[in-house]
Amino acid sequence: MPMIESIETLLVDLPTIRPHILAMATMHRQTLVLVRIRCSDGIEGIGEATTIGGLSYGPESPEGIKLAIDTYFTPLLLQADASRSAQAMDRLNRAIVGNNFAKCAIETALLDAMGKRVGLPVSELLGGRRRDTLPIAWTLASGDTAKDIAEAEEMLDRRRHKIFKLKIGKRAVEADAAHVAAIKAALGDRASVRVDVNQAWDEAAAAKGMALLEAAGCDLVEQPVAAHLRGAMARLAQRFTLPIMADEALTGPASAFGYAAEAAADVFAVKIQQSGGLYAACKVGAIADAAGIGLYGGTMLEAGVATAASAHVFATFPSLSFQTELFGPLLLTEEILTEPLAYADFSLTIPDGPGLGITLDEARVAFFRRDAERKSVHVLPTQTERV
Ligand SMILES: [Mg+2]
Repeated sequence: MPMIESIETLLVDLPTIRPHILAMATMHRQTLVLVRIRCSDGIEGIGEATTIGGLSYGPESPEGIKLAIDTYFTPLLLQADASRSAQAMDRLNRAIVGNNFAKCAIETALLDAMGKRVGLPVSELLGGRRRDTLPIAWTLASGDTAKDIAEAEEMLDRRRHKIFKLKIGKRAVEADAAHVAAIKAALGDRASVRVDVNQAWDEAAAAKGMALLEAAGCDLVEQPVAAHLRGAMARLAQRFTLPIMADEALTGPASAFGYAAEAAADVFAVKIQQSGGLYAACKVGAIADAAGIGLYGGTMLEAGVATAASAHVFATFPSLSFQTELFGPLLLTEEILTEPLAYADFSLTIPDGPGLGITLDEARVAFFRRDAERKSVHVLPTQTERV
C-alpha cells in the first residue's frame, strides 16, 4: 500500500488586483497555505487552505492552519495508507475538533494523489462529473458605484461574467440599496445582480434591506444576518420572494441539516473549506437537494488549487441553479499554476486530467512563499498568459 511519507505546508502571499472591500475587511493581498503530501509510491498530492482577511471571516487563519497541520495533523497521518483518504479523514476528525479549512486542504491533497494514482479526475472519485464548465459570478467590491458599473461593463464586454455579486453591509441600508439599484439599472437584463451582506445586518435592517433590494431587481441576498440567527433567516425567507442564501452559517452537513429542517434559506452557498472537506461539501449539496433548496458554488477567494478542487465538487451536483463564484484566481495578480485555469464565455472549464488536473508552477511558488530567501537581485519568473 502507498504510505503518506511527508506533509509539507507553506505560506504564499499574493497581491490582489484591487482592494477588495468586504463588510468585515479590506483585502490587499491573499495568503494561501499550500499543502504537499508525498506518498511512498512517488505520487504527490497538492491541497490549499485559504481564508478571507486573516481572522476577520472565521476562526482559522493561514498561519494557524500551517501550525495546526505541522504540529497536530502530520503526526496522525505519517505512515498511514495514502490510498484511503476517508480513513485518514476519520482519524483527523476523531482527534481534532473544528479546523475545517486545514482538514479540507489535507483531503484535497489526498484526493489529488489518489486521482493521479488511478488516472481519474477528482470529480469522478466524488461520484462523477455532470458538467465540464461552470458559470462564474464576479464580485464587485471596489466600494464605488461608478467604478463597479465600469468594471461590470468590462466583464460583459470580455464575456467573462454576467452574474455580479455586490459586497454590501458597511454603509447604511438605504445607501447600500441605492448602490445596488444604480448598478442593476445600468446593467438591466444583461446581468444578474446579487448581494452579500456578510452578516452585517440585524433582522430589522435585513427586512428593510430586502424590501429595497427586491424593488431594485436584485436576484439573491446572501447571509444578511449573523450565522447563528437561524430563526431570523427563516422569517426573512418566509416573508420575501427575493431568495435568501446561507453562507457563513453552513459549516458542514450538521448545520446544513439544521437550516434545511427549519427552512431557514432558499439557497445554500456550498464551500469546500467551510464544509470541512470535499466529501462534506458533497453532503451539504445532497441535503440541499433533498430539501428542495437551491445550490450555489461558493469561494473563499482561493487560488488555483482550491478553486480546481471546488470545481470538481460542483461538477458532481445534479443541479446548480444559482451557478458559482469560482473567480478567486482572477482576483490575484499572480498565477501559481503552470497552466492557469481557463475562463472564457462566462464560464470556467473544469480541469479533466488525473487528480485535480493542475500543476504548481514551482518557480513562482518558490518566489512568493513567505519564507523565501530574498536575494539582493531576484527575478520574478514569467507567468503563463491567462486564457
Ligand atoms: Mg458570502
